[in-house]
Amino acid sequence: MRNRPSGFATRAIHNGQEPDPLTGAVAVPIYPTSTYVQQGIGEHKGYEYSRVSNPTRARLEENLASIEAGIAARVFASGMAAINAVASLLKSGDHVVCGNDLYGGTPRLFNQILSNFGLEFSYVDTTVEENVERALRKNTRMVYVETPTNPLMRISDLKSISQVCRRKKVCLVVDNTFMTPYFQQPLVLGADMVIHSTTKFLNGHSDGLGGVVVCTKPEQAEKLAFLQKAAGAILSPFECWLVLRGVKTLAARMEIHDRNGRKVASFLAKHKKVSKVFYPGLPDHPQHELAKRQMSGFGSMITFETGSFRNANKMLKKLRICSLGESLGGVETLISHPATMTHAALGEKGRRAIGITDGMVRISVGIENVEDILEDLQSGLAAI
Ligand code: PLP
Repeated sequence: MRNRPSGFATRAIHNGQEPDPLTGAVAVPIYPTSTYVQQGIGEHKGYEYSRVSNPTRARLEENLASIEAGIAARVFASGMAAINAVASLLKSGDHVVCGNDLYGGTPRLFNQILSNFGLEFSYVDTTVEENVERALRKNTRMVYVETPTNPLMRISDLKSISQVCRRKKVCLVVDNTFMTPYFQQPLVLGADMVIHSTTKFLNGHSDGLGGVVVCTKPEQAEKLAFLQKAAGAILSPFECWLVLRGVKTLAARMEIHDRNGRKVASFLAKHKKVSKVFYPGLPDHPQHELAKRQMSGFGSMITFETGSFRNANKMLKKLRICSLGESLGGVETLISHPATMTHAALGEKGRRAIGITDGMVRISVGIENVEDILEDLQSGLAAI
């Protein structure tokens, strides 16, 4: 069933989500079991222990591999657990070239934990492809890119970077959380692995954490399955089921997210209290043309500048529909303050170096009626 040539929404709804062979149930059953009875020593139905494998998890992994155009997927307890699993494929002394504008938790993991185990990380602006090539060392084994970046919405050219990586025999990993496979397919563009925080758009309802690694080679899938078994940061059957349910409406949700995102971005771009808007769908975005080539939509993640911490706070306190909170990608509009939330761990100097200010606000535009979102933002901005 995997990767059969059907449309995206069809695959999202059906691949891995076939009716239950035992009962005909349309929804994949949740198998909340830790273990499985064996008929004799070594005689079982393919499942031995749920850290190793679980039928609900297997269905989700099949589904996600299919929509992200990979050969296999492995799901983990959170996006960070998925990133940790990818980095665990490396060994002491290996070097990773990373984007310099990643979700703040990623450099925190790399710099404060994994560097203690002998992994080396360097950070470059991956929107300039030459920076990636220049940063490669003899011991570079991985290039780790987020596009668009969080929160500055910078776009890296995945096709060009993947050509560099292929030439230099370095593995390219892309965090595709913001775009989802609906709008961007890094594996088709030449990446080796894709990670997601399924907590965001794939789940889509802000009711569960999760992460996935989608891969292109059987040996990656095998090693990642071994990591699930050996390190144990797997996703529970219930959380898997939430993602399976969420993915069924991914195509429909992303269409509305994108439509609302474009309207909110153009509203903000015209607003006199907003000095800058970061959204790849705006014609003045520095990589607008690349975004049009590389993505089939612009999504609903927008960052904008209110001028100061005080302004941002005044606006945020006034909002009634757009809720202030960490995270993104749910059906409800969420606003965050990167300097004190997602990117607090970078410190002021680190934030300044990449251009994150105290007046910056990031909005994950939901699928509510867009007029209501605009009215809410209008009243929030009027408070500045
Ligand atoms: N990647 C991106 C782009 C994110 O925004 C986040 C979290 O916000 C993560 C990874 C980490 O995911 P999780 O919170 O599920 O661990």
